[in-house]
Amino acid sequence: MKRPHGVVVASKNVDKVAEIEAVLASLDPPITVIPGHRWPDVEETEDTLEGNALLKARAVVAATGHAAIADDTGLEVDALDGAPGVHTARYAGPEATYDDNVDKMLAEMRGVADRSARFRTAVALVTPSGNELVVEGVLDGAIAASRRGSGGFGYDPIFEVDDRTFAEMENGEKNLISHRARALIALAQALAEA
Ligand code: IMP
Repeated sequence: MKRPHGVVVASKNVDKVAEIEAVLASLDPPITVIPGHRWPDVEETEDTLEGNALLKARAVVAATGHAAIADDTGLEVDALDGAPGVHTARYAGPEATYDDNVDKMLAEMRGVADRSARFRTAVALVTPSGNELVVEGVLDGAIAASRRGSGGFGYDPIFEVDDRTFAEMENGEKNLISHRARALIALAQALAEA
């Protein structure tokens, strides 16, 4: 697939868009983000991260006429047999807030010895001519016993990598190692090889 000149980031989550923009800007050469577009909400109806990422990217291409990048992320906890996985955003219910989801995870994991978990992100790039590319990024970590740190979003205060949570990391540090950064770097590599 030809590297697009610019992309729309197909997410309405400002925390996530900021992370994606930072990683795309750090690529060599960078991928430029086209700002200011709007599109109707896209329901995540697929049962895989890849399927949902493609669904969002396709919808944004249709609405804007530009190439679009979308991601879908799941948190897989070994002691919970890989849950919540594709249901990570709605773990505590359809209207769950970040705090609701974190509270539920802490409650489910209370007293559990095996804390191992991983974030998995699928990133899809779709172009107006119908080319599609989907890649994945994975980061292993552990579920903390309680919230620590004030940065980031979502499950960041309870996702530990080498004894620090994402929320305890310095500004920009998460973007060097995260599941999302890994997926975006894999995307850039796939584009370079295509
Ligand atoms: P989605 O990819 O926007 O559907 O996100 C799925 C769920 O994972 C949401 O609850 C997000 O808040 C959470 N999430 C996604 N990426 C991250 C991350 O980098 N850190 C912490 N939580 C995340």
